[in-house]
Amino acid sequence: MVTRRGVLATGAAALVAGAAPRMAWGRTEADVAIIGAGLAGLAAARMLESAGARVTVIEAERRVGGRLHTLRHLPGSPEAGGIQVGSGYTILRRIAAELGVGLDEGGGAGAGVAQRPGNYYHINGTGVPSAGWVRSPANLLPPRERETEPAALARLFARALPALGSPEAWLDAAPALDISWRDALRAAGASAEAQRLLEANLNGNSLDSMSQLHVARTLAIYRSQPGPVATIAGGSQALPEAMAATLAASPRLGVRVRALAEDGGGVAIETDKGTIRARHAICTIPFAALRHIPVQSQMPPPTAHMMAALPYTRASFAYIQARTPFWLGDGLPETLWSDDPLIGRVFALSDGSDGAAPMLKLWTTGSGADLLDRMPPDVAKAEISRRIASMRPSAQGQLGEITLFSWQASPFARGIYHHIGTGMAAALAAATRHEGARLHFAGEHLAQASTGMEAALESGERAARLVLSRL
Ligand SMILES: Cc1cc2nc3c(=O)[nH]c(=O)nc-3n(C[C@H](O)[C@H](O)[C@H](O)COP(=O)(O)OP(=O)(O)OC[C@H]3O[C@@H](n4cnc5c(N)ncnc54)[C@H](O)[C@@H]3O)c2cc1C
Repeated sequence: MVTRRGVLATGAAALVAGAAPRMAWGRTEADVAIIGAGLAGLAAARMLESAGARVTVIEAERRVGGRLHTLRHLPGSPEAGGIQVGSGYTILRRIAAELGVGLDEGGGAGAGVAQRPGNYYHINGTGVPSAGWVRSPANLLPPRERETEPAALARLFARALPALGSPEAWLDAAPALDISWRDALRAAGASAEAQRLLEANLNGNSLDSMSQLHVARTLAIYRSQPGPVATIAGGSQALPEAMAATLAASPRLGVRVRALAEDGGGVAIETDKGTIRARHAICTIPFAALRHIPVQSQMPPPTAHMMAALPYTRASFAYIQARTPFWLGDGLPETLWSDDPLIGRVFALSDGSDGAAPMLKLWTTGSGADLLDRMPPDVAKAEISRRIASMRPSAQGQLGEITLFSWQASPFARGIYHHIGTGMAAALAAATRHEGARLHFAGEHLAQASTGMEAALESGERAARLVLSRL
């Protein structure tokens, strides 16, 4: 257990700390300042307010929700952020029920989930549906892997992963298990082509930088909550909006935190609209974004290390309007799965039967996301249309307006969500246990037992309980 005494932030922490913010100790404005109006911040605010604390929520964006973001200006209101609610999301389901926010069980259109099984693969320059994969010239896998289609390779090698008895077991995993997913795959005999395909659409940045414990933790969480997923009725952002609407003090939107400084009596929060002082602060800024903000605080080395280095998956999207739902009529599976980094995967979101334009979503990660973000938008859009139409002939002349979206380009996120970096499990586990004296941290990256939205809520409520015990 990490003790609260910790050490004064030095070394790695100094990197994070940067220049100390200008102290402007005014009067205390709040018992608790909460930085970020995503699920973690809103969950903490609700719990603290209901216990009688004076809470101020500060949010840089002009909307609440953070990484829950429904793009209501696009046809069919697709999601840019979180979508799927697991069957074991007990905190989320409790809050949604309290607020009267409905859940649509079973996913559905707009969820970015393939509505029909199978993929249309475009690999090594050749297009092939799942059914033709085994005998396709595109299939360069050796005999023992050949029968497994690319999207199922992770499952094939999952049996080589350490079995975690529970979703929390990663917290105390032996350091020797904290090797890269690449080394684990090599040890399991995965061929170079299998590794290449696994990396092509990895939910991470690279096989080298992701710990096998991350993959094992994800599997343990899935195993612990079998059953269909749900989506939030009215779009994911409906939940944080409902949470914010019940707060006595509305979140202060459009207020960007520039620096944080903790001392024995409280926390000074320097923003672009002035300095706020609070007895306690809960900071829910993703570490990928927080590492660009000076933080003056006593924190143990693992927390400082994670603030500086915890990896976040980089992902960029393109929402592509189609003139007709051409993918329904060409006899191929609707999801395109490619090894072209610019294209990644292309999911059908809606076929237009709801009256809105048919819509596809391109999803590329890691170096593919870097590539897309570096291209001038008009060049990227033209190239996306050209490549999809060359991969899938029925798309020719069918692709219309494209809207690009990048989480990694946002200074308030800089990625979609964290993953356990190679060799980082022990430090991340310690960071989740760090309590802080006046400045506390929460967010999906600091959960112990859950993932995604539920992780944000778990950590937010944990931080709120801690603060309540200290007020
Ligand atoms: C593409 C994508 C797909 C996902 N899919 C799923 C899924 O299917 N299921 C699932 O359960 N989860 C999913 N997730 C994860 C889930 O959305 C997140 O775990 C959760 O929303 C994170 O909540 P949070 O409160 O921890 O962080 P955030 O929502 O990021 O909240 C942090 C807040 O801090 C604000 N902020 C940042 N910097 C500053 C600053 N300097 N000053 C003031 N405010 C600041 C941000 O604007 C933001 O509102 C997905 C996420 C993404 C991006």
